[in-house]
Amino acid sequence: MIEHAKQAIIKYNMMRHARGGIDTLYAFALSDSGHIHDGASYEPNIAHATVCGERHAIANMILQESYAAKIKSIIVADPVPEVQKHGTPPCGTCRHLIWSQGSPDTTVLLLQYIQEKNGWTFPKLEKYTIKDIYPLPYEPDEHLWGSK
Ligand SMILES: [Zn+2]
Repeated sequence: MIEHAKQAIIKYNMMRHARGGIDTLYAFALSDSGHIHDGASYEPNIAHATVCGERHAIANMILQESYAAKIKSIIVADPVPEVQKHGTPPCGTCRHLIWSQGSPDTTVLLLQYIQEKNGWTFPKLEKYTIKDIYPLPYEPDEHLWGSK
């Protein structure tokens, strides 16, 4: 899965650069069926229409495997100018979506990548579980004030 991510990051960055684009945040969701779904952040000129790379990858998983699919692991790969203490973690909303479309033990891998003169390097990878970074999930109880 990590090898898939590294190759895809290079492939997508080369495609984007060929059309004047730049490196971006990518996400790769490994489902319980063993398929890997790619995503990239989408940052249009209306800020509130932005879509996180994680959500793009999850939406691709739902597209191809239905809501029955579960996330086993997700890689979040963000470009950095130099190695950072921590890679970019998922935002709060994406943490919730990873948790609700996965399991407490779903792993979240933060991969830092750097654009060098002759390609890209991947100097740091951190591993967490979603329960580590989303310890108190939002679970509204629709029946809390029910009729009985
Ligand atoms: Zn997000």
